Amino acid sequence: MAESRYLIRFDDICPTMNWSMWEAIEAHLVQFQVKPILAVVPDNRDPKLMVDPPRQDFWDRVRQWQATGYTIALHGYQHLYVNKNAGMLGVTPQSEFAGLPRAEQEAKLRKALAIFAEQGVRVDAWVAPSHSFDRTTVGLLAELGVGVISDGLWPRPFTEANGITWLPQQLWSFHPKPEGVWTVCNHHNAWSAQRLDQFAKDLQIYASRITDVPAVLCDYEGRRISLSDRWSGFAEFLWTHRILGPIWATRRRLRELGKLAG
Ligand SMILES: [Zn+2]
Repeated sequence: MAESRYLIRFDDICPTMNWSMWEAIEAHLVQFQVKPILAVVPDNRDPKLMVDPPRQDFWDRVRQWQATGYTIALHGYQHLYVNKNAGMLGVTPQSEFAGLPRAEQEAKLRKALAIFAEQGVRVDAWVAPSHSFDRTTVGLLAELGVGVISDGLWPRPFTEANGITWLPQQLWSFHPKPEGVWTVCNHHNAWSAQRLDQFAKDLQIYASRITDVPAVLCDYEGRRISLSDRWSGFAEFLWTHRILGPIWATRRRLRELGKLAG
């Protein structure tokens, strides 16, 4: 377990997503036998996710993906942001859940879960729209039996005292990374043909290191978070928010100037 491994996640899966792009992506996933996390919106009302006419066989497809071994995550309820709250992870300042009273969050989660149950789809994990949720959401997920959250910038998965296992999601494209489990998040609705080509190339390069959620849970479920995870998570947060990058660039530039002067 000394090398890096990768999980692939696709967000905003719903009946009106970009289907032609999806079919092309799925062909690559099948070719490389990749079993991704698919974040499915139970009742999408977000116009930004309305790219193609609704597919009538959408839930059939979701059931098929789950039967194939794909991890099906609950991606919020309606994908509608109601405030500018960035939640506990502080990634994006908009939320469908963070900052809302417990009763309101619980009502949304129960409606979302009811749709999955009605469609005969098991909830394998939680993926919050815009990464925005809070401790209230986490407590509710634990109570409602959703045991896995795909989010956070730590380098390795871990399980909290309440039984929730965090599968961190730190990347938005493939990069070489040190030991750990790195989830690459994708939003295919806006992909160009060029972006699809890059994805195919990345699969070729990283295929041997791509794993799936059941395998990761097998290795990490029950593990507690370490101090080094916390530090690495904090450093990753600074990189993600473009705070560390400019500092390093400035240091390098100053060193170069120093060399020139010397
Ligand atoms: Zn989303």
